[in-house]
Amino acid sequence: MKAQACGKNADPKTCFSCGAVLTSDEIAMYRKAVNRGAQQCQCLNCLSARFNVSRAFFEERIAFLKAHGCTLFE
Ligand SMILES: [Zn+2]
Repeated sequence: MKAQACGKNADPKTCFSCGAVLTSDEIAMYRKAVNRGAQQCQCLNCLSARFNVSRAFFEERIAFLKAHGCTLFE
């Protein structure tokens, strides 16, 4: 597939490390873990590599934060 770069700003909803399309959960988790105002985020795979933890660690964090009504997760 061709990249869709048509002179617009880079789409912020892809991982800046691997280019994977991000889910809203991944964006929220990145903002929670790294920087609340982040415009560029990483997918769970890259985020877990960065923190040297398993992807499941962040999946559990997401479930936990959602269950506790964290406002970053909708
Ligand atoms: Zn990634």
